[in-house]
Amino acid sequence: MRLVIEHAAIATVDAAGTEHTTGHVVVADGVIESVGAGPAPAGAADRRVDATGCLVTPGLVNTHHHLYQWATRGLAQQATLFEWLVELYPIWAGIDDKTTHAAALAGLTRLAKTGCTTAADHHYVFPRGAGDLLAPIVEAAGQVGIRLHAVRGSMDRGESRGGLPPDSVVEDKDEALAATAEAIDRYHDPAPGSFVRVAVGPCSPFTVSTELMSEAADLARARGVRLHTHLAETVDEEQQCLAELGCTPVEYADRTGWLGDDVWLAHAIHLSDGAVARVGATGTGVAHCPTSNSRLGAGIARVQDLMHAGATVGLGVDGAASNEDAGLGVELRQAVYLARQLKGPGTATARDGLWLATMGGARCLGRQDEIGSLEAGKQADLAVWRVDGVEHAGIADPVAALVFGPLPPLRLLLAGGEPVVEDGVPRGVSEVDVAVGLRSASAALLEKVKR
Ligand code: ZN
Repeated sequence: MRLVIEHAAIATVDAAGTEHTTGHVVVADGVIESVGAGPAPAGAADRRVDATGCLVTPGLVNTHHHLYQWATRGLAQQATLFEWLVELYPIWAGIDDKTTHAAALAGLTRLAKTGCTTAADHHYVFPRGAGDLLAPIVEAAGQVGIRLHAVRGSMDRGESRGGLPPDSVVEDKDEALAATAEAIDRYHDPAPGSFVRVAVGPCSPFTVSTELMSEAADLARARGVRLHTHLAETVDEEQQCLAELGCTPVEYADRTGWLGDDVWLAHAIHLSDGAVARVGATGTGVAHCPTSNSRLGAGIARVQDLMHAGATVGLGVDGAASNEDAGLGVELRQAVYLARQLKGPGTATARDGLWLATMGGARCLGRQDEIGSLEAGKQADLAVWRVDGVEHAGIADPVAALVFGPLPPLRLLLAGGEPVVEDGVPRGVSEVDVAVGLRSASAALLEKVKR
């Protein structure tokens, strides 16, 4: 199968930041064969796409999500993180495989429609008796057609042990570790270009015991998979950490084996200069979630400082209960705008936003050699954005049109060379069916809580 995309503006996001005003991308058997200026080299093609008026970028990489939360959007609208969690935990205690599948399908469909070709999902709610809730998420990713990094989360510190969640949604430490090892056995595919990988993800300092944090890190490293957790999201978390553990969240992460170039942390907002330096020096990744952080008023991550210190930063939508939009495309603009709120308009460019959402994300997930830029030999994960409509007409710089303008419609989205979205329409699922399924799963879940 050979696919030729021609006559498009191209932002490759390679190390030199190469862009072409008019260029081509040739895809063969799921891999990028060539990218360059002008028309494609002569050769047979099974399909030619005239992408006049479009911008081609790498497919976007989402580094932090909780897909199950798509079933609980629009709740706790004025809450801080801890208030929001306390209101939502009892509802999440009712999720099962049906809720999780319907929510994952909706969340992944939304991601695909906003240019995402790789998504990390951090699933940490496993109500007793609900079974393997990673299975419906893996299934949904296969249906939508994008790459999944399934983070097997865990919580073992319920209210009775001084934690925030009710005991009904936490697991026993050893059970959680055994289930995590089983998830790696069952789903993790380390092969280049794979569509499903697993990471280890105890939820956060205020929901997980120190033993589980340390042992989960050991398990991940013994199995050669990556590590992901929430850290330093709010001032409340920092105060609780200081009071209970006698250290800051970053010191705690350091102590329990949670800094390193095989770790990526969600949020990392409340960091001292010393903590920024430590996260950077260890090459730790950060999933920056600008909309969720704004929705919860959590603070603004010091993205530029972290990157100068040596950290890798990617973007995440976070769960849809704290970001009802949960589209990845809009996070590019949010990230640039928040950086400017911290340090002025010279701080971050449109291209910085695009980099975070592509190469930055690929590095967080340890996939910088496979995805994240348009270069010969990499996976054919790419987004063809229409920037010739009334929404973008007159913006001469197509990358500025993508980042600063309204999110453009997709002419085409490819993951591993396979069409995921064509002319704005998902190929793998019926949007109407996904919406109907989600509405009924969400209603059933909320009804369960009332009973
Ligand atoms: Zn999160």
